[in-house]
Amino acid sequence: MTDNDTRDLIIIGGGPAGYTAALYAARANLRPLVIEGVGWGGQLMITSDVENYPGYVEGILGPEMMRDFRAQAERFGAEYLTEDVTSVDFSERPFRVVVGEDEYRAKAVIVATGASARQLGIESERALQGKGVSYCAVCDAFFFRDKEVVVVGGGDSAMEEALFLTKFATKVVVVHRREEFRASPIMLDRARANEKIEFITNAVVDEVLGEEGRVTGVRIRDLNTGETTDLPAGGLFVAVGHDPNTNLFLEQLQHDEPGYLITQQGSTATNIPGVFAAGDVVDHVYRQAVTAAGTGAMAALDAERFLAAEEGHEATALTAPRVEAEAPLGQPEPTRSIRGQPERQKV
Ligand code: FAD
Repeated sequence: MTDNDTRDLIIIGGGPAGYTAALYAARANLRPLVIEGVGWGGQLMITSDVENYPGYVEGILGPEMMRDFRAQAERFGAEYLTEDVTSVDFSERPFRVVVGEDEYRAKAVIVATGASARQLGIESERALQGKGVSYCAVCDAFFFRDKEVVVVGGGDSAMEEALFLTKFATKVVVVHRREEFRASPIMLDRARANEKIEFITNAVVDEVLGEEGRVTGVRIRDLNTGETTDLPAGGLFVAVGHDPNTNLFLEQLQHDEPGYLITQQGSTATNIPGVFAAGDVVDHVYRQAVTAAGTGAMAALDAERFLAAEEGHEATALTAPRVEAEAPLGQPEPTRSIRGQPERQKV
């Protein structure tokens, strides 16, 4: 089936970036269709408390926060399709976005398909996700104050996570499957110099131990001897890397070596005019809900400007250059409002 209606905007992905883009786009009357994927809500659906998103004074459960994001955009007219996009064609306009047998068309597309933290792939890890098993120390270290924790991994991310965790935990044990580390010497030296960090090499995690739905320890297996040992731990941080969800786009959109999409500096524009990217699909540095939401807002504003320019009225877009931005230095600023900014509609 082909949806004969060519939409202004399709947003692919329903995490903090996609829903924020949807909110801004819906409020700009772009009637966005959000193809949010079967994993709607994104990465925060596998965590419990989120305490670092501004506005939630007491913190909020990740899934609840995502339901709020989703409902807020829906209130302004965003439509949702809870299926995975199977292919895209950005070679001509309108762009085509395919979901199984169905095809959708749009004048602009925002890609916000996020990234997936690599998992160890053991059943007990899945069962205790958000209950002591985490993939993000910046997000969750605070919950492990005065506890012993285990970090799995041997790269720079694992060292970074371990070092960050020492601010809260009493002891951090880094478990790594090899003798040699992929981490850069400087990161490794820093971790080795920290007296709270211990290393166990040539070992893997066989099982995450839990009681009453909380992590209590980790069973590790020595790869040389086959011997297993139970380490007491209040938490397990899996730091074995992230994969951007970009397979669908790799042939059409510029990306870096690991597959993260490349956008122009200071913008969410990709190499194809009219296709924008936001959130963790672009970002392998900050990887936070608030930064994903921020770039989601930017992508919607960029898309709005693009569409307005296509229709010949760029100056009406919210991101159009402002009068004051064009005034040469030393000239008085426009005085239409008390703060020296031209008055504009609240967005
Ligand atoms: P994601 O959240 O990854 O969402 C991607 C979306 O794209 C999903 O809806 C998915 O279904 C969709 N998608 C993927 N492929 C397709 C497809 N083919 N078709 C359609 N849709 C598709 N950050 C914080 O700020 N605070 C925290 O406390 C915090 N805790 C975390 C805890 C854990 C365990 C993890 C893993 C991450 C945590 N983060 C936290 C990081 C935060 O979750 C991410 O930075 C954020 O979710 C990124 O948002 P995003 O919208 O870019 O992508």
